[in-house]
Amino acid sequence: MSDCIFCKIIAGEIPAKKIYEDDEMLAFHDVRPQAPVHFLVIPKKHIKSIMDIESDDTALAGRLLSKAQELAKEQGCGEKGARFVINAKDHGGQTVDHLHIHVLGGRFLNWPPG
Ligand code: AMP
Repeated sequence: MSDCIFCKIIAGEIPAKKIYEDDEMLAFHDVRPQAPVHFLVIPKKHIKSIMDIESDDTALAGRLLSKAQELAKEQGCGEKGARFVINAKDHGGQTVDHLHIHVLGGRFLNWPPG
């Protein structure tokens, strides 16, 4: 999608602090971190939100989740844990319409988020 900021990161048109990349996904640090560890895991395929995942995407979704877990451990969250968040559409607080998993850690995170 030409007007999608995350597609532009994938295309290398705008910079990001990448922590992982392969043929189907990318992980990079959030530009406005809300915790000492805060990165995003995104598919390279432009899927607007978790509400738009189709049956063909379910294996990819599983691999995104698995990579988020692996990277969370690599970033030092294995012992104390982390929060894995997927905001969806308006009520979910989604601001970038390209599916992404937030991984936040490195401090205690309150619940509920408010
Ligand atoms: P959400 O509100 O769930 O859609 O989250 C979007 C996230 O993308 C926010 O936490 C933003 O700080 C982050 N973000 C927006 N633009 C960039 C960017 N260029 N590089 C890294 N993270 C970004």
